[in-house]
Amino acid sequence: MRKIEQPEHGTYAGWNWHMKRSVPLCQPCRDANANYKREYRKDPVKRQKQRDHVVAEGRAQRRLARLYPGRYRTLLNEERAKLGLRALP
Ligand SMILES: [Zn+2]
Repeated sequence: MRKIEQPEHGTYAGWNWHMKRSVPLCQPCRDANANYKREYRKDPVKRQKQRDHVVAEGRAQRRLARLYPGRYRTLLNEERAKLGLRALP
């Protein structure tokens, strides 16, 4: 199967493509994600599942940070730099 190098911009799959590769978002993909998430949040069951997922994700992230504080700080600062934020000490 041929590897897909570029997504269809302006779709939720396109938004995921940007996110997974840390490629700055284009406006059509940004809009597609906003529309997708807006529709997703209209379903109360999905909305609660998403909230629970975010809570679980935050807890796991804090546990990982405690286990590997130096590595976590390095990764955090790499991601902050991609967004133009200064490094944390
Ligand atoms: Zn795009």
